[in-house]
Amino acid sequence: MSPDDLDQRVSAARDETGSRGETFYPGPSRNHLAAFPPKERWDDWTELDSRAWPKRKERHYSLIPTTCFNCESACGLLAYIDKVTGEVQKFEGNPEHPGSRGRNCAKGPATLNQITDPDRILYPLKRAGKRGEGKWERVSWDEALEDISARIRKAIVEDRRDEIMYHVGRPGEDGFTERILAAWGVDGHNSHTNICSSGSREGYQLWMGMDRPSPDHSNAKVILLISAHLESGHYFNPHAQRVIDGKANGAKLIVFDTRLSHTATHADYWVAPYPGSEAAMLLAIANYLIQNNLYNRDFVRQWWNWEQYLAVEHPEIETNFQSFETLLRDTYKQYTFEFAAAESGVDARVIEEIAELVATAGTRFSSHNWRSVSSGVSGGWSVARCLFMLNALLGAVATEGGVFPNAWNKFVPKPIYTPPHPRMWNETTWPREYPLSMNEMSFLLPHLLKDGRSRLDVYFTRVYNPVWTNPDGFSWIEMLTDPDLVGCYVALTPTWNETSYFADYILPMGHGSERHDIHSYETHDSQWLGFRQPVLRAARERQGESFHSTRDVNPGEVWEENEFWLELTWRIDADGSLGIRQYAESQKNPGTRLGIDEYYEWIFDNSVPGLPEKAADESLTPLEYMRRYGAFEIKQNIGKVYEQQVDAWELDDIREDRFGRILTRAPKPAAANIVPIPTPDGDEEGRRFVGVKVDGEVKRGFPTPSGRLEFYSHTLATWGWPEHAIPGYFKSHVHPDKLEKDQTILISTFRLPVQIHTRSANAKWLDEIAHTNPLWIHPSHAAKLDVQSGDLVRVETEIGYYVVPAWVTEGIRPGIVACSHHMGRWKLTEEGQRQLMATVKLDHEGTEWSLKREKGIEPYQSPDPDTLRIWWRDAGVHQNMTFPVHPDPISGMHCWHQAVRVKRAEPDDNAGDVFVDTKKSHEVYKKWLAMTRPADKYSPDGTRRPYWMLRPLKPAREFYKLPKEELAEVP
Ligand code: SF4
Repeated sequence: MSPDDLDQRVSAARDETGSRGETFYPGPSRNHLAAFPPKERWDDWTELDSRAWPKRKERHYSLIPTTCFNCESACGLLAYIDKVTGEVQKFEGNPEHPGSRGRNCAKGPATLNQITDPDRILYPLKRAGKRGEGKWERVSWDEALEDISARIRKAIVEDRRDEIMYHVGRPGEDGFTERILAAWGVDGHNSHTNICSSGSREGYQLWMGMDRPSPDHSNAKVILLISAHLESGHYFNPHAQRVIDGKANGAKLIVFDTRLSHTATHADYWVAPYPGSEAAMLLAIANYLIQNNLYNRDFVRQWWNWEQYLAVEHPEIETNFQSFETLLRDTYKQYTFEFAAAESGVDARVIEEIAELVATAGTRFSSHNWRSVSSGVSGGWSVARCLFMLNALLGAVATEGGVFPNAWNKFVPKPIYTPPHPRMWNETTWPREYPLSMNEMSFLLPHLLKDGRSRLDVYFTRVYNPVWTNPDGFSWIEMLTDPDLVGCYVALTPTWNETSYFADYILPMGHGSERHDIHSYETHDSQWLGFRQPVLRAARERQGESFHSTRDVNPGEVWEENEFWLELTWRIDADGSLGIRQYAESQKNPGTRLGIDEYYEWIFDNSVPGLPEKAADESLTPLEYMRRYGAFEIKQNIGKVYEQQVDAWELDDIREDRFGRILTRAPKPAAANIVPIPTPDGDEEGRRFVGVKVDGEVKRGFPTPSGRLEFYSHTLATWGWPEHAIPGYFKSHVHPDKLEKDQTILISTFRLPVQIHTRSANAKWLDEIAHTNPLWIHPSHAAKLDVQSGDLVRVETEIGYYVVPAWVTEGIRPGIVACSHHMGRWKLTEEGQRQLMATVKLDHEGTEWSLKREKGIEPYQSPDPDTLRIWWRDAGVHQNMTFPVHPDPISGMHCWHQAVRVKRAEPDDNAGDVFVDTKKSHEVYKKWLAMTRPADKYSPDGTRRPYWMLRPLKPAREFYKLPKEELAEVP
């Protein structure tokens, strides 16, 4: 199209809408999105075939929305389905999606590579030799389902329910599988969160009772990030585009990152602190605000739990706000700029300038810490806690340009069935040593089983590859190859991965465009619901065909989890005698299994405010609306939920406690609440929490034990950690005081922006862009080691070493090294992804394991001619295997940063070599276990965990109690 043609089109569109500019595309993004097909033409969108040029050949497409599954952000995609071939031609952004607003990162369109990958797994496979031997036979879904369901039924009937475990990497959905486990009565949910984001979550939860921040970057005056948002961190695209919006509106961007990330390249202030010192810098900024009276006094007085702090910890002081302010000044005066400079290595004057800038933001201060250092060091949770303290001081909480709690900026609809809480407590996932852990102690599983604490009869992994993703992968191989520890391992995966080689069953599941899910994330101050759907099924159903199963449309016999779980549940309790089948039964046709249409139809008809009306406006049912547009915006500008007045009827039969918490016996409202508000515990007499009294009025407050923002954590104080009761700084496991002279720190918590943990090895476009992970090293450091870019180095950890080429760069703090964790993929046989998985020899003698590359990446013949054009040979190194487990004793987060020795490689070393002694890794596990303060010794009330703390799939409340005979005397 010539520029003139385009101008004419734009003018015509403006004429149609009668206004200028912003309404050219009238979708919810409210952007001027001239590049997007108007939704009115999605049924027959025409484009010219570029390959036919110079001939004019039209191609006609049905545009079907779905949701990207290549990271957590869940951006909208539009599948362009060719009306002649019936195949997906490409994926582009969905402008109807309020979170991503039609924009995607490189991984979204690369979904096309994943679905057309010649190496993908298309049929259910069953192990035909020993585990790990690489021999497989094709089986029917029926055979696999019968075998697995019989095992699960037997375990349930024999009350071995703790032997059933579902371990998920990327869930991509809100609670479906948790409810399936609840239907089975099994406390068997295991997640990857403690190797991912638990550090940050813990810090946020301690303050707000909700574990994630939702920053309003677009409207901020100052943005402070301790993550790599623009390139790789949490909510990559939806947040990245809003950081840029904020910058375009004049916001200043501050980035703390030891490494020059893509985000840092956009910053007004980039500081590269010594890893683990970030909290010291944040407290110096807090101290500046406190000592200079630059904080929001009214907000602090009204919303911090300072009264509780004074009453409990300082009964000698009169309980009034002036006393608290005096104490606050006195407590934080130690955190000077000079102190922060000594800890971080950042110039004191620079930290002071940043503090001055932060002070100008007022309530328009947005900040975010995710992964990064909070997942890197022991006590990393305190980084998020100290960062949020700045928001809490400025009153920049749920304000325009401030930070919202996640639960107010997302929407989780009520499902068709809500099975009861499981009547058990699983000690393998929630061991008593970690009562305050944010999530399951998933990465300790091999060690807990080796210690004889339990065994697994049926172990599922889904979108998860623990041998490769977790630290200490060789211990996982030892666990998976021991039939006494794991009876049957079922890998639910769309692709080959390092863990699946040790499975008994590999069951192929769909990619993002081949499955159903719903989800909602805190991308900005609004609530929306996204709908992932199998696009080929949706396109054919739009033409009048109907399908009972997504398997009938997907390639080969690829299925989707939701239908799989419903079918498995149905078979576990085929006669209904266990009370399980009812949760997988159709309400429309009792006696038959619930179908996927009925499942989503019920949710969209009954649980999503405004959707039925919006759909009716277009003469659609709610399900048809979601199939047509893929997303629905429920509400914008949620605002300060904590300030909402509590309804008078809820104030019946109330009790007010010492610190203004209001509890009521009034029944809960039955209707779905537009703003789902988590609530903290009620009282022993059955009252529920409804709010807190603030200046004489009852307001909603926060779901913390005090109902306010918790500057003071009574939970930490009473569960054995009184020294951390208020935000503070303490030395991490890699503090310089704890390193030996020849050790340095390895940062392994960053990733390349175009790779996914496991599922992108088959995305050829992404592989071509990024296929290696050299060791970042500063020129001054490299000179000392006599190393140049490309030279091989050995990186020695506590339990082994790996060999990697160096990359000499000024983009890292001198003396610190870094290596991306998204590379080093390997396979044991030719079976696997050939575009980015090197073939290796896996060997061991006793507990000493090694991995050596036998063959790099090569071009190969396949139905895709591009596989003959592969030019890269490297696949990087699998560094995570050489890391022992480092569970933070409070948050449970694996502390990824490593104290390492970096040396020139030895003559026989080759790139990609890995060596580990798992005996040593078990010793390190024991060492960190000894740092814990277990519930049976430290619980103030004889429970395993504070009930108010978040937990996926909460067991029934009575199962929180530890058996009396197992309680030790409280020290
Ligand atoms: S940020 Fe990229 S990978 Fe993540 S959901 Fe969006 S398009 Fe997909």
